[in-house]
Amino acid sequence: STLVGSTQMSNVTVCVRFRPLSHKERKTNGDKICFKRLDSESFVFKDEREEDVIFSFDRVFYEDAEQSDVYNFLAVPIVADAISGINGTIITYGQTGAGKTYSMEGPSILHCNNQKTGLVQRVVDELFQSLQSSESMATWNVKLSMVEIYLEKVRDLLDLSKDNLQIKESKTQGIYISGATEVSIMNSSDALECLSEGIANRAVGETQMNLASSRSHCLYIFSVQQGSTSDERVRGGKIILVDLAGSEKVEKTGAEGRVLDEAKTINKSLSVLGNVINALTAGKQNHVPYRDSKLTRILQDALGGNSRAALLCCCSPSASNAPESLSTIRFGTRTKLI
Ligand code: ADP
Ligand code: MG
Repeated sequence: STLVGSTQMSNVTVCVRFRPLSHKERKTNGDKICFKRLDSESFVFKDEREEDVIFSFDRVFYEDAEQSDVYNFLAVPIVADAISGINGTIITYGQTGAGKTYSMEGPSILHCNNQKTGLVQRVVDELFQSLQSSESMATWNVKLSMVEIYLEKVRDLLDLSKDNLQIKESKTQGIYISGATEVSIMNSSDALECLSEGIANRAVGETQMNLASSRSHCLYIFSVQQGSTSDERVRGGKIILVDLAGSEKVEKTGAEGRVLDEAKTINKSLSVLGNVINALTAGKQNHVPYRDSKLTRILQDALGGNSRAALLCCCSPSASNAPESLSTIRFGTRTKLI
């Protein structure tokens, strides 16, 4: 078999996560699994020509992986960096039903402090724990925004009346979403309250406009500002977590109107994201097409430059979803191939 590698130098970590088989998959397709587990970095998967290929990533999480395993591997370094002023991004990619939201939010964002707690809340907890225990830092300030990108429009999930926010850039703030609600949060429970509101608003918007959340990107944006007692410097870092729209191919035949527009817009923004990460990991820093989509523009200074990013490619383990899982895996390898 051939080896497709992706663990080169770069500040982008690429991981794959196979969730457990669902009851529905078991019932309709049996227990047949689409991959063969090798180790914590690689697995065998049949390619388009039905040939066995070994795929390697920075880490592969199988069905027995805990939320804390995922968090410890790909988020801990990002949170540590954000506190010292370096921006970070954590992105979940994959077809609808592959486990993106579960990885981010757990079974529910309100499921506090247990084994199933997702990345977002773990990031929040760690952030406050570190800030509260850091002695040299006199003051700090954490703000949270939540937005959704649908058909290339940025909507404020903390204020649904703001449905077409613009992205701007300034010397002091870097890239920012102009007019987006920013809530100051002092601790984990403030954050949780704010997050629940954003998630509830997202559902309200969906019902009002008859949308599916799987067709929009959801961004959780934390900015951390610190003043120090020992000098006058103010350090700032942000962490953006992104639950992407479903990457599944939409049947070309039959799709029309909004469904077709959605599919085209999602395809484009996901492929721009792939191109951006690829350009960054390949060291082509001056040809990075950030401006080709709203998503990559927002992520510009949290993906490129002095920053750290992690991509979690979420897959169904079922043989019945093998083509979509292969496409997700390919996205992961393509973004990091040098
Ligand atoms: P997506 O956001 O990619 O559309 P979800 O995160 O909503 O997919 O996951 C689809 C279903 O699978 C949900 O019922 C979710 O609870 C379940 N699920 C996903 N990942 C896991 C996991 N690692 N362990 C247990 N259940 C999971
Ligand atoms: Mg989801």
